[in-house]
Amino acid sequence: MVTQYKNLINGEMVGTSKVLDVVNPANEEVIGQVPACGEAELNSAVSAARAAFKTWSKTPIEERRKVVQAIAGVINENNDELFRLLTAEQGKPHAQAQGEIAGAAYMAGSQATLELDDEINEDTEQRLSRTRRVPVGVVGGIVPWNFPVMMAVQKIAPALLSGCTIVLKPSPFTPLTTLRLAELIKDVAPAGVVNIITGEDSLGPLITGHPDIDKITFTGSTATGKKIMEGASKDLKRITLELGGNDASIVLPDANVEKVAEQLFWSSFTNAGQICVAAKRIYIHEDIYDELSAAIAAFAKNVKVGDGAHQGTAVGPVQNKKQYERVLELIKDAKDNGYKFLVGGEAKDDSIPGYYVPITILDNPPENARIVAEEQFGPVMPLMKFSTTDEAISRANASEYGLAGAVWTADADEGVRVAEQMETGTVWVNEFLHLSPFAPFGGHKQSGFGAEYGKEGLLEFTYPQVITVKKDNVPA
Ligand code: NAD
Repeated sequence: MVTQYKNLINGEMVGTSKVLDVVNPANEEVIGQVPACGEAELNSAVSAARAAFKTWSKTPIEERRKVVQAIAGVINENNDELFRLLTAEQGKPHAQAQGEIAGAAYMAGSQATLELDDEINEDTEQRLSRTRRVPVGVVGGIVPWNFPVMMAVQKIAPALLSGCTIVLKPSPFTPLTTLRLAELIKDVAPAGVVNIITGEDSLGPLITGHPDIDKITFTGSTATGKKIMEGASKDLKRITLELGGNDASIVLPDANVEKVAEQLFWSSFTNAGQICVAAKRIYIHEDIYDELSAAIAAFAKNVKVGDGAHQGTAVGPVQNKKQYERVLELIKDAKDNGYKFLVGGEAKDDSIPGYYVPITILDNPPENARIVAEEQFGPVMPLMKFSTTDEAISRANASEYGLAGAVWTADADEGVRVAEQMETGTVWVNEFLHLSPFAPFGGHKQSGFGAEYGKEGLLEFTYPQVITVKKDNVPA
């Protein structure tokens, strides 16, 4: 009997007669069923969120802060149960699933410390003008399948802290851990403040178009982000969009080959490459290209791909069939074009269930190769050779995306000089994938709109309201 999961609407766990299957990508078995919500369930969730907004928006921020901290606490306390479920539905190895759950708790707990103080614009003999921050209203949160818990929590925490209420939709591929989390937080937040409903992709446009939702916070592909922007334009909903990326790493000739090889590997292959800020194009200076590419390939050959629940697995399956087929298509295209593979390139044995893609590393494919020019979002890493730093920067920037990037060098000042020329929202020098709850995270160009995290991320859930008092004009 497959486990049935319920949705959180108005403080109650509720089911629907129509359900969706959720598959474990490691073995293609159905491991749970979740409600397939439509307009009726969405309307109930939005009504609950609207009703709760009346009191929640007036609840002092110190009380709201405590609720966000309590959510962070519940996530931490239940890490052991949650990470196993997360591996089963998402595919990532246990250690990485544990990291996601702990990270979600840390990010929520840290964001809970942010302030929304009034700001004084003018305080003169004539006038006192201040800007206060008022919550936007009911938020619709839409989340992808690569970091389902982290992404859900990074929407719930700032929404609640700002005084908004939320209706959140997980990806139909990975809703289970979020629904288990819904049960755990059911009594932590007042009824209606957090609502979590599941459904197919078709539930997304209903959320975007709902007349009683005031803001959409979305993480997912650029193609869907554009549809959301279009849908939200009808009633000018506020939007925050965290979208795709094709992040470049630039390795300068003075980088320590031994030290960076393993780090570069994991900057691409963590979560089987299914990270918006994973390194998807690695530019290596020609002086160290041969040595470094050999070191990365040697490291890769000892990394085990398999079921994330099995001990020793470091890279799990691709999360779903559609993405699996897309990654295989990009590899086939590279093969058909005669590009050279340092590692991988062979197909897995089709008789073994699971969406496994062998670790794939390409040797200096051309810039216009699909596997370089497109966001692969899988365990694939193209290594490319460059001659001058300016050339590497211009190749890195030649993308419609602008999410993140990295520079690897022994000279941190030079690293910063290069970083400042990259057209992305985040650039790391000598590290990768680090996000801070106190720094804005957001894409340039077609990688996003607005930001999450930090004060800037929190303010996106608010409107500024300026109140001006003319001091020397008191009516008699
Ligand atoms: P996706 O865009 O297919 O789906 C994301 C979510 O949107 C899902 O919940 C889906 O059901 C919903 N959705 C689908 N169609 C919709 C529509 N028309 N209107 C509203 N909602 C709709 O993305 P995905 O395949 O789940 O995730 C992978 C993508 O997400 C990659 O491109 C990746 O780079 C991106 N991503 C970005 C970030 C970031 O922070 N910038 C983080 C993680 C993932």
